[in-house]
Amino acid sequence: MKHFDPMEAMATIRHEFGEHGGVNMSIEASTTFTVMQAMIMPEIFHGLRGPDEGGCYLYGRHYNPTVYALAHQLAAMEATENAYCTSSGMAAIAAAVLQLCRAGDHIVASETLYGGTYALFNNFLPERSGTTTTFVDADDLGAVERAFTPRTRVLYVETIANPTLVVADLPKLARIAHAHGAALVVDNTFSPLIVTPVRHGADVVVHSLTKFVSGSSDIIAGVVCGSKEFVGSMMDVTSGSLMLLGPTMDPRVAFELSTRLPHLGVRMVEHGRRAQAMAERLERAGLHVHYPGLATHPHHARLAGMMNADYGWGGIVAVDFGTIERANRFMEHLQLKEKFGFIAVSLGFTDTLMSASAYSTSSEMSPEDLERAGISPGLVRMSVGITGTLEQRLAQLDAALAVVR
Ligand SMILES: *Cc1c(COP(=O)(O)O)cnc(C)c1O
Repeated sequence: MKHFDPMEAMATIRHEFGEHGGVNMSIEASTTFTVMQAMIMPEIFHGLRGPDEGGCYLYGRHYNPTVYALAHQLAAMEATENAYCTSSGMAAIAAAVLQLCRAGDHIVASETLYGGTYALFNNFLPERSGTTTTFVDADDLGAVERAFTPRTRVLYVETIANPTLVVADLPKLARIAHAHGAALVVDNTFSPLIVTPVRHGADVVVHSLTKFVSGSSDIIAGVVCGSKEFVGSMMDVTSGSLMLLGPTMDPRVAFELSTRLPHLGVRMVEHGRRAQAMAERLERAGLHVHYPGLATHPHHARLAGMMNADYGWGGIVAVDFGTIERANRFMEHLQLKEKFGFIAVSLGFTDTLMSASAYSTSSEMSPEDLERAGISPGLVRMSVGITGTLEQRLAQLDAALAVVR
């Protein structure tokens, strides 16, 4: 496959200068925009003269220059024609599937999904829009195939999924989806830059920008990346999910995120370098470790076959301490005694975040589902941070291991 580098792609698109030639783009804090010739107004409303068609911006919920500039960067990152930024990752996911599925349509989804996405598909959509979902082990291609119905419009997976870091076989899943006339929608939140899902057959890519892309655990945001036609359909003033549900991004937030994209590459490399070292250290200590960069991870070769060069294997490591008591002792020692990181959900922060998945981000699952997904009561998910030095952090990890031994 031809070389692709998302940081290189982002650097080749037109630089957005500030209003006075500033090196950063300006924040366009306007919700409405002057139409210089009155007769253009109806054409803008009919989608014929937007910012990409020689016209101008209309209204902030439709398009805003600052938000749109960030969207262009993210489209370049994901190698899609276009993108639209949303107020959260959940808004991006909901808008994408609501645009693709009409009442009575059907989704086939991986059974290992972000909790909010699972609840949206399992509870909200069938009750509110009549769209049902069949959850399957996305690794069992026969089961995926059998789950399709004539009404299936979406096959939905996460590139790397919580918390055991299973990797979706995107090329094979894309083939199944396309054979049934469905779209492959991929949540790439865990692996920005590492995997470019559309290069492996995905049609739509969604992100929670709240995590690695923000990097500072201070902003809730999301994006939908896809074809010009698909993004345009979500923005249609009479039938678009984003336009009519309205979860757009604020231009001030778009500006903030635009200042973080240039160092996403160096951050992902460092998250990955440290996560790899910690995963190896924990595995050598005799613990069961889930990390795709380890040769023992069942999807190590699969991810190797899909990943872009040089961005590592990601910043998330899961390690099994068997019982919640040992897991909690490990986390508390690291938080209180070592200043190693924080006991908190979410991921992609500069500091390390740790949580016991069965008691936090996966707590909506039944005991049987937890066991089937390999989520033991003592499984600790670590989003490995980039503060301090690696040597310092490894010594702290050793100290915590000695405490729980
Ligand atoms: C956090 C997260 C989401 C939801 O994103 P928000 O920005 O919190 O709405 C969706 N998918 C994955 C994989 C996530 O980690």
